[in-house]
Amino acid sequence: MSQNFDITIIGGSFAGMTAALALTQVSPNLKIAIIERQDILKTDRKRDGRAYAISSASLKLFKEIGIFDEVVKEAGVISDIKITDYKSPFFLDFLSRDVGGDLGLIIENFHIHNALRNQILLRENITVFAPNFYEEIEFDFRPRHEDVVTREEDVPEFVTPHSLRGRCDAAVTLSNKNILNSKLLLACDGRFSKLREIYQIPTTQKKYHQTAIVFNVQHKNSHENVAYEKFLPGGPLAILPMQNKYQSSIVWIAKDNDAQAILSLDEENFVHQLQKKIENSLGDVQVISQKFSYPLILVEANKFYHEKMLLIGDASAGVHPIAGQGFNLAISGINILCNLIKNALFCGQDIASKSVIEEYNKKAKLGAKKMIIATDILNSIFETKSFSIALARDVGLGLVNKISVLKKFFIKSAGGF
Ligand SMILES: Cc1cc2nc3c(=O)[nH]c(=O)nc-3n(C[C@H](O)[C@H](O)[C@H](O)COP(=O)(O)OP(=O)(O)OC[C@H]3O[C@@H](n4cnc5c(N)ncnc54)[C@H](O)[C@@H]3O)c2cc1C
Repeated sequence: MSQNFDITIIGGSFAGMTAALALTQVSPNLKIAIIERQDILKTDRKRDGRAYAISSASLKLFKEIGIFDEVVKEAGVISDIKITDYKSPFFLDFLSRDVGGDLGLIIENFHIHNALRNQILLRENITVFAPNFYEEIEFDFRPRHEDVVTREEDVPEFVTPHSLRGRCDAAVTLSNKNILNSKLLLACDGRFSKLREIYQIPTTQKKYHQTAIVFNVQHKNSHENVAYEKFLPGGPLAILPMQNKYQSSIVWIAKDNDAQAILSLDEENFVHQLQKKIENSLGDVQVISQKFSYPLILVEANKFYHEKMLLIGDASAGVHPIAGQGFNLAISGINILCNLIKNALFCGQDIASKSVIEEYNKKAKLGAKKMIIATDILNSIFETKSFSIALARDVGLGLVNKISVLKKFFIKSAGGF
């Protein structure tokens, strides 16, 4: 059996589900399919240690796609961000008054995932095939009329049914042999995207030889909605304020070998080492969740498309979590795509035209490049042992803090305000 859609999304996680919801905001007439190998419909996502710092720009989209009210109930607010160097007397602080509002929210990612899924269940024009796999993909496929079940009267006004066009641009065969015909494919299958590999899209990769250890803590002192990023020799340590004023999410990045040693410590020594790193700033601390670890690697696709398939989210660029920007970057790419498709529909053009694909590639790649360079530089300048760079960095931190224009620029770049 064949079914017709406008867009088929492979990978129904953060980027895939957000893209589906955002695209239905562009036009309720767009018919979207999501193929996801995990059972996202019946099973709630479990905690994986990661709490995402969500920028104001991303929160705007959360409101548009209808998940804001659900996630905000679980969110911690960032009013101030303090960036410190392990030896420096200078530090950089970004206050909410600098931007006239909060600096973003901290949300454990499983809340976001479940809210996206709940919203998807309410949308009639999104069909989820999960758990399911694609077996074969053919581009520029001409479906046989008798295979196509979509009737002309079922098809929304300005979306041309593929059966009437006599061809579709991508046909995905599922493991149960069902065929999904669509105009455009979105590869949202993550940092180690199989689709990127199958279509031999070259990547630039960089192993940071660092591991992020993530977990939640309970502490005696209130966090006062302050997020800390402490730059330590092996990598940064972030303290992210959760909704409960006495709980924070910790992202402790260390060199791979050190991370293994840290993870093998018993609880007492682990907390002791943590306290040393955060200089007892939160009072007595207790670990209240499982610890999860993520080896850090940059993967950047050299182009963000193949034929009628676009790479979105980590499949296009998986960045260092130093600035908590991976999912925010995916959202920025989704916004770019939505605007291009909106314009194409408005002008009566094909949503998968060469110009839509090329513009997406150009704009999303540029955004990713800027983020990769920023996170890469940030990670390496704070890692450096060079005295001159360290001095310049420390003086720089103090200076930026004093100059409000510069501070605003940094906040804008990091938070998407
Ligand atoms: C330690 C850490 C902290 C982070 N903190 C932040 C933060 O504070 N803020 C932020 O914005 N970002 C953060 N990130 C980045 C964020 O986690 C990622 O950018 C985000 O998860 C990417 O989502 P995605 O949907 O592109 O990929 P994924 O979440 O990896 O999803 C890929 C999906 O594709 C599915 N899939 C794969 N292959 C197939 C197939 N063949 N068929 C069907 N489905 C398939 C998978 O099952 C999965 O559901 C952090 C990352 C790390 C490691």
